[in-house]
Amino acid sequence: MTTLSRFEIHQPQSVAEASQMLGHYGDDGAIYAGGTELLLAMRHRALSYSHLIDLKVIPGLNAIETRDGVIEIGAACTHRAIERSALVREKQPGLAELESQVANIRVRATGTLGGNLCFAEPHSDPATMLLVLDAKVRIESAGGAREIPIDKLIAGAYANHLAPGEVLTRIIVPSAKPNHRAAYMKFQIHERPTLGLGLWLETPDRGRTFTAARVAVGCVCPFPSRASAAEELLTGSRAEVEKRLPEAAALIADGAELIDDHEGSAEYKRHLIGVFLRRTFLKALAGDSLFKPGREI
Ligand SMILES: Cc1cc2nc3c(=O)[nH]c(=O)nc-3n(C[C@H](O)[C@H](O)[C@H](O)COP(=O)(O)OP(=O)(O)OC[C@H]3O[C@@H](n4cnc5c(N)ncnc54)[C@H](O)[C@@H]3O)c2cc1C
Repeated sequence: MTTLSRFEIHQPQSVAEASQMLGHYGDDGAIYAGGTELLLAMRHRALSYSHLIDLKVIPGLNAIETRDGVIEIGAACTHRAIERSALVREKQPGLAELESQVANIRVRATGTLGGNLCFAEPHSDPATMLLVLDAKVRIESAGGAREIPIDKLIAGAYANHLAPGEVLTRIIVPSAKPNHRAAYMKFQIHERPTLGLGLWLETPDRGRTFTAARVAVGCVCPFPSRASAAEELLTGSRAEVEKRLPEAAALIADGAELIDDHEGSAEYKRHLIGVFLRRTFLKALAGDSLFKPGREI
C-alpha cells in the first residue's frame, strides 16, 4: 500500500495571499480544497507537492449567493452544500439534482465544485451541465481577477487554463427562467460516470416550440464540450425536434472524440448518446427535477 509523503499545509487569509504562496512555492505547491483527488494522486505518486495551500479557510469561498439573475457559487463549496442549498434548488434545480448524484455522500461532503472543475477528471459531471447553462468562472490572483466562460477553463483531460498563481474563486451560473428547460442525465455502472449529457432549451410556449438549444456531452470523451453542430436541429416545433433527435445524436457523437476505455467502446458510447439525448429531452420537458423548491433533504 502506498503512503503519502510529508507535506506542509498553509492557511492563507485571502485569495491574494494564496496566490502569493503559489508563486512562492512554485512547482512544489498546490491548492488544496477537499483533497479527494489531490491526496489520492499524491498517494499514488502521480502528483507530488511539499506545500498545500488550504482554500477552505479563506472567508467567502464557501458562500452561495444570488445577484442580477445569476447564482454565484464559491469555489470551495462542497457538492453536498450545493445539493442542499435552498438557493440553488430554487434558482437552478437541475444543478442541485446533478450535485446530489456526484460520487457518494462521503466524497460529496468533502469534494468541492472548484476542485472538480480544476482537476478536470474526464469522468466528471458538473462541467457538462455548466456548459449548457452558460456558466462563467471567476479567476483571481495577487495581480487581479478575470471572468471567463466555463469552456475556456477546460483545457483537456486533467488540464485547465489557470495561469501560475491563479485560483478559481467563483462559479457564476445564470438562474433558470420560466421559458427555460434544462436537464442533465448520466449513465454509470462503475465508480465514475460512463456518460453525462446536459441539455438546455428555450421555449416560449411551455414546450411546444424551441427557439434556442444548447447540448453538451462528457465522460465519453477526454473533456466535456458543447455540440454546437447539433443545436440547430434541436430548435423548431416539438414534433420536428423529436424526429431529428437521432440525427442530432449522431452529430454530437461525431464531434465528441469518443474514446474506447474501461467504460466501453466508442461505438457503445455513440449508442448511449442516442438513448440519453432522447431521455434528457423528455426529462427537460417534464421538468421533473428531484429538487422542487423548498423540498427538505
Ligand atoms: C470515489 C470517487 C467517486 C467520484 N465520483 C464522481 C462522480 O460520479 N462525478 C463527478 O463529477 N466526480 C466524481 N468524483 C470526483 C469528485 O467530484 C472530486 O474528487 C472532487 O469534486 C474534487 O474536489 P476537491 O475539493 O476534493 O479537489 P482537490 O482534490 O482538493 O483538488 C483537485 C485539484 O484541483 C486543484 N484545485 C482545487 N480547487 C482549486 C481552485 N479553487 N483553484 C485552483 N485549483 C484548485 C488542486 O490543486 C488539485 O490539483 C469522484 C471522486 C471519488 C474519490
